Amino acid sequence: MYLDRFRLTGRVAVVTGGGQGIGLACVEALCEAGAQVVIADRDARVADEGRAALLAKGYVVDVVVMDVTRPDEVDAAAARVLAEKGRIDVLVCNAGIARFDTASEEVRDEDWLAVVDVNLNGVFWCCRAFGRVMLAAGRGSIVNIGSMSGIIANKPQAQANYNASKAGVHHLTKSLAAEWGARGVRVNAVAPTYINTPLTALSKSNKAMYDVWIENTPMGRMGEPDEIAAVVLFLASDAASLMTGSIVLADAGYTSW
Ligand code: NDP
Repeated sequence: MYLDRFRLTGRVAVVTGGGQGIGLACVEALCEAGAQVVIADRDARVADEGRAALLAKGYVVDVVVMDVTRPDEVDAAAARVLAEKGRIDVLVCNAGIARFDTASEEVRDEDWLAVVDVNLNGVFWCCRAFGRVMLAAGRGSIVNIGSMSGIIANKPQAQANYNASKAGVHHLTKSLAAEWGARGVRVNAVAPTYINTPLTALSKSNKAMYDVWIENTPMGRMGEPDEIAAVVLFLASDAASLMTGSIVLADAGYTSW
């Protein structure tokens, strides 16, 4: 009954930044597996558009507006989802931002701080708030969206803030896995290559940059959000019951060269 292990029937999942891009694909994958899913995004309009897109595919999802950089809002969202749904089984920490292509010696304080605040601090606030609920229940699965940028430094663009934040996500993932492994809560991460989403749309339109990306990717292409969502679904589900502290690369071979 291997395929049954991917089923999430009766489980409740929360996806941060779930209104678009990789997050929205994760919401769809979790819905298809039978979970009740909550989109947690900072912009109500983006979240509602995501909800409408899923409704058009036959999935009913809930929305909670929450900024991952605000621990008070994150705590309130976790309390609200628990009160409304009675349980929280899966958390996907997907919300993230990038400030592409600024040489480190030129990076403005606010850009460094913004990237680290959303990408690393935000993941921690979410893991802490939703992890508490999972620890109290003695079960749960957290999937953080890291990046191949947490393993290699991208080229040609300079993005030390983003790279450092994602390396932090990876090590936070391992640290929480070590702390919570014996208490029923698994914590893993996915490290994607370049994915076609609003986040990369602008950089992708820079042909010189895009060509370097593709030349350096063994599979010769970017990825699609559903190719990350499939990995997230696996890690979220009982199919990955022996996995915690893993950083799963989905990088089209990028880090092989
Ligand atoms: P998108 O920009 O398409 O979507 C990110 C979502 O997160 C948006 O809905 C955004 O809302 C939301 N968000 C941003 N900041 C916050 C916040 N403070 N609180 C709550 N929600 C927030 O990005 P992607 O789908 O491309 O990226 C998703 C994740 O995958 C990120 O962590 C990213 O770093 C990672 N990743 C992406 C890759 C890629 O090539 N696309 C490659 C590797 C990793 P809003 O629209 O309001 O900003």
